[in-house]
Amino acid sequence: MTLAELYRDIRGGRRLTPEEGLFLLRNAQLLDLGDLANEIRFRKNPESAVTFVLDSNPNYTNVCTIDCIFCAFYRHPGEEGVYTHTVDEMIAKFKDSAAKGITTILLQGGVNPDLPFDYYLEMVSRTVKEVPEIHPHFFSTSEILEMARVSGLSLTEVLSRLWEAGLRSIPGGGAEILSDRVKKKISSKKGTSEDWLGVMREAHRLGYRTTATMMYGHLEKDEDIVEHLESVRRLQDEHRGFTAFIPWSFKPGNTPLEKIIPTYATPKRYLEMIAFSRIYLDNVDHIQASWFSEGKKTGQIALHFGADDFGGTLLEENVHAAANFVNKTNTEECISLIHDSGFDAAQRGTLYDIKRVIPRIKAA
Ligand code: SF4
Repeated sequence: MTLAELYRDIRGGRRLTPEEGLFLLRNAQLLDLGDLANEIRFRKNPESAVTFVLDSNPNYTNVCTIDCIFCAFYRHPGEEGVYTHTVDEMIAKFKDSAAKGITTILLQGGVNPDLPFDYYLEMVSRTVKEVPEIHPHFFSTSEILEMARVSGLSLTEVLSRLWEAGLRSIPGGGAEILSDRVKKKISSKKGTSEDWLGVMREAHRLGYRTTATMMYGHLEKDEDIVEHLESVRRLQDEHRGFTAFIPWSFKPGNTPLEKIIPTYATPKRYLEMIAFSRIYLDNVDHIQASWFSEGKKTGQIALHFGADDFGGTLLEENVHAAANFVNKTNTEECISLIHDSGFDAAQRGTLYDIKRVIPRIKAA
């Protein structure tokens, strides 16, 4: 098959096979990928609005025993600089965020083996009761698997009890690249691709909505990118539990992997990832661009390469900051960045429910 034939079939709505996906990723020109992705974006989300969320990503602990070599955030138990916040401290933080208009808290650790399951349950149930303005978007798959290990409960039981406590959505972090060849090298203690997919599958089966993420720009090859997207697409066919797909690039600062990969992936590669994921993931509604992880200009351009969401305002963020990567915005700037990209801005909730639309003022 030629590229021209593939473009025609993509425009016609045909699903790509992994082999076709790899051929496209390797051979298509960036602007062609962008055109195709943009067409699909408007087919799926016809409104001329780009969504964003008022959110914050605090961490309750930086203690972790998983030793991912791409991570600059964690500390081993007992090391200098470790912290674990009490539930009281976190609730106070959430109340402060809510007072500033934040509606989504994405909360993650470390994977701290000293925390009992009740700590997590209390974190969820008290957030729901005491800070009702906040949607708790809590705990990565690694933390959920650790809860099962510490409590001796099954994965289903852990997820069911978190649901009873009031949790309804889970962030998609921790996927990195769903290729065991790569996982063995960058996060050998974190488990397999099937571990991440298994938690997501069970969560979706129980009614949770989650996101799916991908961190590229390290040891992966194009084949691993396609394997990742194929795994996400296949799981999405089962329960339609993913709300959005969010790619971001590896940030090497202060990580052990920096010795092998000292540089950032390019903006061109980011735009390829955004466009290619929009084309490949025909069953995922939203692709999220990130002003935060790739820079504001690149984030804006990504809105013309298939992304329909601009992520969150991120009141607090510590994981990229540990890798010396810091970007800041506020609500007004976030709206302006979307407007300046040529779109209306729509504030959304965690589950992509629209709260308000702020139209772009068009030149007379
Ligand atoms: S990425 Fe998460 S699981 Fe891996 S070392 Fe860092 S905090 Fe631990």
